[in-house]
Amino acid sequence: MEEKIAQLKAEAAAAVQGAADVAALNDIRVKYLGKKGAFTSILRGMGSLSAEERPKVGKIVNAAKAEIEVLIGRQGEALKTKELEARLASEKIDVTLPGRNVPMGHLHPLTLTLERIKDIFVHMGFSVEEGPEIERDYFNFEALNLPKDHPARDMQDSFYITDEILMRSQTSPVQARTMQGNEPNKPIRMIAPGRVYRRDEYDATHSPMFTQVEGLVIDEGISLADLKGTLELFLHQIFDENVGVRFRPSFFPFTEPSAEVDISCVMCHGKGCKVCKGTGWLEILGAGMVHPHVLEMSGYDPKKVSGFAFGMGVERIAMLSYGVDDLRLFYDNDMRFLRQF
Ligand SMILES: [Zn+2]
Repeated sequence: MEEKIAQLKAEAAAAVQGAADVAALNDIRVKYLGKKGAFTSILRGMGSLSAEERPKVGKIVNAAKAEIEVLIGRQGEALKTKELEARLASEKIDVTLPGRNVPMGHLHPLTLTLERIKDIFVHMGFSVEEGPEIERDYFNFEALNLPKDHPARDMQDSFYITDEILMRSQTSPVQARTMQGNEPNKPIRMIAPGRVYRRDEYDATHSPMFTQVEGLVIDEGISLADLKGTLELFLHQIFDENVGVRFRPSFFPFTEPSAEVDISCVMCHGKGCKVCKGTGWLEILGAGMVHPHVLEMSGYDPKKVSGFAFGMGVERIAMLSYGVDDLRLFYDNDMRFLRQF
């Protein structure tokens, strides 16, 4: 009898260990410990035992039942933990998945360059003035010492809308407007950035529309030394402090004397290359002392005040700063190009 109970206990214990899930474990409990279970039927069959044996066998059966109960409890906990882990794993949300990208815009390389130019001049006390892109012939040419029959007008083949109105070919009219809007002889220290239009080719170095920054300083006692110092400081800041700067005599109708300003080639550092056409120098801006006639036309007295003016192309400075070899890249809206800035 005892042997049979031990065997049954071993069988039940093995079944409990092998239970795959909580439901199977319940079946095992019913099979061995239930009212009609294997151990219960042993207890029921004890009628055939002797009076001495009954309590002994009853005790063994109950001990075996208790042991199995403990095993079932332990296995039940283990299975529940396993099932919970499986559920957690299957329902897991992976918060580390990459999110949806919101593409961020940024400033255009020409705008970036213009902002740098403005910053440098604003730090030197210049104001930033703007004016209309559709301009009167008077402000674009005549007020700048370029009467209608002046041959230098051919240097700037312009887009006329009527005989008297055109797309401005330079930002100088903003200077003429500022001077004429001022009280006579009031000091000026300004730059005028903006788009200008000329009838030109559209190729690697030309465009019928481009961006210009012109500057004007007028005060008592302004000399060529002020012009030179201001432009050298600007060029050293926009390129680098070791860049060479030279002034070459030139001609502009609105300045006298006039100069072309060159920097040492930023590509070859003066040795000579394709970009500087072997000269080691790059033309970067035009400048000069404001022509007395221009001062007079805008109500300034050339005997009391003097001034200097300069002008530069933003595209040219951007091309040299970033090493861009085709002007059209700035206008083509090719994202592969624009994303690099
Ligand atoms: Zn060079």
